[in-house]
Amino acid sequence: MTLSLYNTLLRTKEAFAPIDPGHVKLYVCGPTVYDYAHIGNARTFSAFDLLARLLKHLYPKVTYARNITDVDDKIIERSNLSGEPIDSVTARTTAQFHADMDDLGLLRPDIEPRATRHIGDMVAMIETLIEKGFAYAAEGHVLFNVPAMSDYGQLSRRSQDELIAGARVEVAPYKKSPADFVLWKPAKEGEPGWPSPWGSGRPGWHIECSAMTAAHLGEVFDIHGGGLDLIFPHHENEIAQSRCAHGTQVMANVWMHSGFLTIAGDKMSKSLGNFYTVRELLDEYPGEALRLAILSAHYRQPLDFSKDKVEQARAALDKWYGVLDKAKEAGDLPTAEVPAEFLAALMDDLNTPKAISVLYEQVNAYYGADIKGDKAGAADAAARLKAAANLLGFLTQEPKVWLQGDPDAAIEQAIADRLAARKAKNFAEADRIRNDLAAQGVILEDGPKGTTWKRG
Ligand code: AMP
Ligand code: ZN
Repeated sequence: MTLSLYNTLLRTKEAFAPIDPGHVKLYVCGPTVYDYAHIGNARTFSAFDLLARLLKHLYPKVTYARNITDVDDKIIERSNLSGEPIDSVTARTTAQFHADMDDLGLLRPDIEPRATRHIGDMVAMIETLIEKGFAYAAEGHVLFNVPAMSDYGQLSRRSQDELIAGARVEVAPYKKSPADFVLWKPAKEGEPGWPSPWGSGRPGWHIECSAMTAAHLGEVFDIHGGGLDLIFPHHENEIAQSRCAHGTQVMANVWMHSGFLTIAGDKMSKSLGNFYTVRELLDEYPGEALRLAILSAHYRQPLDFSKDKVEQARAALDKWYGVLDKAKEAGDLPTAEVPAEFLAALMDDLNTPKAISVLYEQVNAYYGADIKGDKAGAADAAARLKAAANLLGFLTQEPKVWLQGDPDAAIEQAIADRLAARKAKNFAEADRIRNDLAAQGVILEDGPKGTTWKRG
């Protein structure tokens, strides 16, 4: 089986060929820490968490780096508005980000470089770019000289003429060409600044990632990822800086981008009032259900997020944990391999909808075997379900904890058990379950469409 990944640079899926199969290197642009992460951010980070998990399953060593952008205009603005010192804004927001991603069930990256710890690397890289004729200093700023790079624009497939015509980049008197972008900017009165050959200032956003990837993953590495909106200008400019500074043909071999998350078809925005932070959703739903809802769409497709989707994901987890619970009651689960079709789906550019359908096939296999009294077959199917789901970090809780942590799930489970008892003509057991539920104030109503319940 080969891993194939869609490479934005080539606009096609290709077989993944690591530079060193003994050590795969992945970099993902991380959050700018000035506010709570929103569910759109969670989508991008969940997609690359999935990639990191798959790579770790396939290769002996993987270094997954995801940075923290802790120097940025938005952070300074936030600090000015609230009066909270910058260091406190970034430390607090970073801690919140970690808590949110942990609760969603994401793996921590192996390396989490912070921009403010790499200012020296950034200054050195900017000096190299000036020396090589790819950058120039003007009025305390340093700018990347876009026309100096003949093949600028490969990732976003924009020509220099298009760029100049459509330049929405700030037009400033110190720029030689409208497409030139900032590598270093001077600190205004009261703003944080670091010493540099061009005076006290701070780096531009793009140079941060170029310096951090070089420091931690080398001049050329395997995979670079982020959300679709980062293709231009952020990733295009990272490529320009890194390739021109190091004299390399590529910065990373594979560029991967996750699709956008929308709400009822609209871009999420605070002004439209259709904005969810990860934290407020975590107050309402388990992280496991949120992440399953996110991964239920293919990572490159747009994902129209809704609370209904989270409810559906929660119902799926109820079923899956229900299978594990029943199987465990019948005895210890055997060891099982991850089903080949499940792995094949993920290796086909992270096809999670297909992979999830393979989980359902194990559920069907479990009930098919169970109904025939094939205990070994049922246990095997449950074990395969668990092995596959565990690869993505799902179904790692004790089934009882999941099932009982959610009162509604426990009721649905009891109703399913009662139905199974009735089918097996074990009416005493079916009555016992009904009486148990009644004792908890839950009243069952059997109708033509099955059993419904309400609290009495
Ligand atoms: P930021 O902290 O704004 O730099 O964003 C962090 C990551 O979240 C970037 O990779 C963005 O591309 C991604 N992102 C932001 N908004 C969305 C969205 N609505 N859907 C998917 N990804 C997003
Ligand atoms: Zn970046």
